[in-house]
Amino acid sequence: MSDLRELYQQLILDHSKKPRNFVKLTGANRTAEGHNPLCGDHITLYLQVEDGVVQQIGFQGSGCAISKASASMMTDSVKGKTTAEADIIFERFHDLVAGEKEKAGDPGALGKLVVFAGVREFPVRIKCAILAWHTLRAALEGKAEPISTE
Ligand code: ZN
Repeated sequence: MSDLRELYQQLILDHSKKPRNFVKLTGANRTAEGHNPLCGDHITLYLQVEDGVVQQIGFQGSGCAISKASASMMTDSVKGKTTAEADIIFERFHDLVAGEKEKAGDPGALGKLVVFAGVREFPVRIKCAILAWHTLRAALEGKAEPISTE
């Protein structure tokens, strides 16, 4: 477990213990569900999108610390952004944890999300970290089917 412990940095622990935007939005006009069968992570995402801007975002679910912290920080980082900006952050985050290192671009643009860079060393954990983001994309695309990382 010592390798994993390095992953659980202060920020990740903080977000997993006290997830931000951990609420079911009553006024949501986009929702999506995501599941990571490998770890048992489950998330339901609620978005209120108006004029192409993510006005409100919330999530519910259960899972490991990485999946919860990732969902918490994802909601923080896309709130108030346009759906196009949210898509760009998705791409950058995906490159950070699962892409080729050379293509990762400027990690500074991700802000606090760079704490997940260590996840790429642990393939099993990549799906935990990326789950909320795939669910976000499904919600923005209006997909009705629950998404799965498998
Ligand atoms: Zn997990």
